[in-house]
Amino acid sequence: MLYEAEGYDATHWPDSYWRASCAALPPCPALEGAAQTDVVIIGAGYAGLNAALELVERHGADVVVLEAGQPGWGASGRNGGFCCLGGARLSERTIARRFGAGAVAEWEGYERAAIARVEDNLARHGIDAQVTEPGELLLADSPRAWARMQAAPLPEGARLLDRAALRAEGLNTGAYLGGLYTPDGFGLHPYAYVTGLARAALAAGVRVHGESRATGLHPLAQGWRVETARGTVTARQVLVATNGYSDERLLPWLKARILPAISNIMVTRPLTQAELDAQGWTRQLMAYDKRMLLHYFRLLPDNRLMFGARGGLSFRPGPVVDFARRARAEFELIFPAFAKAETDYGWNGLVCLTSSLAPYIGPVPGEEGLFCALGWHGNGVAAASEGGRRAARALMGESTAPPAITRRVPPRFWLPRKWALGAGMAMAGVIEGRMRTHGQAGAPPA
Ligand SMILES: Cc1cc2nc3c(=O)[nH]c(=O)nc-3n(C[C@H](O)[C@H](O)[C@H](O)COP(=O)(O)OP(=O)(O)OC[C@H]3O[C@@H](n4cnc5c(N)ncnc54)[C@H](O)[C@@H]3O)c2cc1C
Repeated sequence: MLYEAEGYDATHWPDSYWRASCAALPPCPALEGAAQTDVVIIGAGYAGLNAALELVERHGADVVVLEAGQPGWGASGRNGGFCCLGGARLSERTIARRFGAGAVAEWEGYERAAIARVEDNLARHGIDAQVTEPGELLLADSPRAWARMQAAPLPEGARLLDRAALRAEGLNTGAYLGGLYTPDGFGLHPYAYVTGLARAALAAGVRVHGESRATGLHPLAQGWRVETARGTVTARQVLVATNGYSDERLLPWLKARILPAISNIMVTRPLTQAELDAQGWTRQLMAYDKRMLLHYFRLLPDNRLMFGARGGLSFRPGPVVDFARRARAEFELIFPAFAKAETDYGWNGLVCLTSSLAPYIGPVPGEEGLFCALGWHGNGVAAASEGGRRAARALMGESTAPPAITRRVPPRFWLPRKWALGAGMAMAGVIEGRMRTHGQAGAPPA
């Protein structure tokens, strides 16, 4: 594991607003003794639970899910709830060059299908995940970023908003010069979504075991034996869906093929109407910028502001506090009228990057019956949901169900990973500089 043990301690839940604002799932019992099944899934996040549902609903398979904590303990229960396009960091040009022109349309189709998949899950399983207004706003933090945004071709249904338009639409900040609105996606309550999936899986007959960290993975003549502290389960096939929380000792093939990265979130106390009006930010639209240290934020249904930023390189208290302080300072720069709103909740978690800049959904080479679905590049609410479904179809023999860009095995990082991440952040710090205020966009609305 790349980081300190405290980041992976599944006996502790993070201090997350999501857990505090949603009925917890009753604990799933640990695996005890010896069991048998068709498919074992390791990891009960969006990917693992969607794979389980697909295997049961479409193929009538018998499925066991093993989770180190409880369902949703990982990133799926603690993210920003942006259900949006994304999941890979490859440019269109690179996709076309490496995988052929058809792969661009295929990946775009996947991203849209992924959002539709979440909508379908919510509707079919009756999950109330506090879905917000549709669309997403990409904000420009510098004259250069704004000029680039204006020069680029507009995606379908997109609109450019200058500072006056942002203000008029209830999207006023102290830091951005303009924005690009795109109509896809919506915000949701991530923990309500993942626990809704877990409930649906349990109702469909999936055996979901909490507090059941897989500690051993052993090939048999036909299939695999998976060990936990108190039990074992044998199966024809195994799907590893552990994303940023993957333990490379369990699956050494993964070693250095993934790069887990820390992301931080803070949530303020509920803002008063006077504060919202003074700032001129009154919408629940998902918004983000593209700085290396990335900011993503949205107003929650109870008028708290959720503010996310990339984290540091350590789960030790000192660096965690430093990064939280830095995020808070940038929050106050972006929303000066909210500066008096205390932070009620703050936590962090792991996202997962790969050296191929795309997820990997497919077999572990040379290991019959062993599969992976991971590497959603910080955008897994939708992408991991659909990824789990496609992985399940790949297990059932549909090897081309995952899109072409997710079928290429990610090579190993050749630089020490923390070093590469640190160097990237330091370089971005020099190039981007500290975030600057550009003043309020005109007078706040009355
Ligand atoms: C702070 C933060 C904010 C984010 N914001 C967004 C956002 O707004 N929008 C978006 O699209 N994405 C966001 N993401 C990313 C998104 O949350 C993830 O991509 C997605 O949840 C991944 O789902 P998953 O099922 O693949 O992995 P996870 O949800 O991480 O699940 C993996 C599970 O595997 C379990 N596990 C690990 N090892 C073992 C083992 N040996 N045995 C048993 N279980 C094991 C872990 O306990 C964990 O629960 C964010 C992530 C973070 C951390």
